[in-house]
Amino acid sequence: MLFILLFFVAHWYLSLFMQTFLQHRYAAHGAFRMSKFWERFFYIAAYITQGSSYVSPRVYAIMHRMHHAYTDTEMDPHSPKYDDNLFKMMWKTRQMTVNIFTGKLDIEPRFLKNLPDWKWLDRIGHSNISRLLWIGIYTWVYIQFAPSAWWFLLIPAHILMLPLQGMIINWFAHKYGSTNFSMKNTSTNLFKVDIFMMGEAYHNNHHKNPSSTNFGFRWHEFDPTFLIIKLLNWAHIIRVNKLVPIPVSASGQVVLNKPVDLNQARNR
Ligand SMILES: [Zn+2]
Ligand SMILES: [Zn+2]
Repeated sequence: MLFILLFFVAHWYLSLFMQTFLQHRYAAHGAFRMSKFWERFFYIAAYITQGSSYVSPRVYAIMHRMHHAYTDTEMDPHSPKYDDNLFKMMWKTRQMTVNIFTGKLDIEPRFLKNLPDWKWLDRIGHSNISRLLWIGIYTWVYIQFAPSAWWFLLIPAHILMLPLQGMIINWFAHKYGSTNFSMKNTSTNLFKVDIFMMGEAYHNNHHKNPSSTNFGFRWHEFDPTFLIIKLLNWAHIIRVNKLVPIPVSASGQVVLNKPVDLNQARNR
C-alpha cells in the first residue's frame, strides 16, 4: 500500500513541477532562460514524469498565452464562464490542444514568439503508441503493488494527470477562492498556502503579473516552485530574468509582458 501511495504522490508532484516549471513559467511566459542542453534535459524529464498526459510545451504555451490575452471572453480557450461544466471545458481544451499540435488552428503571430520547440520528442509524446505504453506501465504498477482492486480507481488520475491538474486551476481558480488584486477577470487564489499545486493555485497573483517567477505575493503565500527555480538559478542551470514588475492593464488582460532587463531599463 505504501508503495502505491508513494507512486501516486511522486507522480502528482513530479508531473506538476514539470508543468509549472517547463510548460508554464518557461515556455509560455519566458520567466527564465536556459541552454539548449538543459532545455532538452527538462523536456525529457517532462515526458517521463507526465507520460500518457504529456503536452508539448510549445502547444501548451500558445494556448496559455491565449488564455491570458482573452481571459473570460469567448476567445478564452478555457473559461468556466462559457462552459456549463468542467468536463465540457476540459474537452474543449483537449480539442484545442490537438488542433494547435496538428497545425489546424490559425495562431496570431504574437503568440508564436520565443517558443521552445523539440518536434521529435513532441511527436513521440503526442503519439497513441506512447500514451498507450504509459497507460500500460501505470496499470502494471497497480497490478504488482495495489493491495486491493479498489486502488485501480486511481489509475485514471495517472492517465489524465496533466488535464486533471490543469482543470483544478482553470476551473476552480476562476470560480472559488480569494483575490489579492481586483481585476476584470475572475482569477482567484484558490488556497491560502499552496502545498498541493506547487504555487499554481496563486492564480490571481499570476494573472496580475504573468511573467513573474514567484507566484506568491503575501508573506504566507509560499511558492515551492519559486524556491526550486532559485536553487537552479544559483547552480547556473537556468538564468532568471531580472524582472521589473510591469503593471498590467486594469482589466488584467494585457499579457506577454516582455521581461525587462534591469540594466537595459537603467540605460534608457
Ligand atoms: Zn487563468
Ligand atoms: Zn500563465
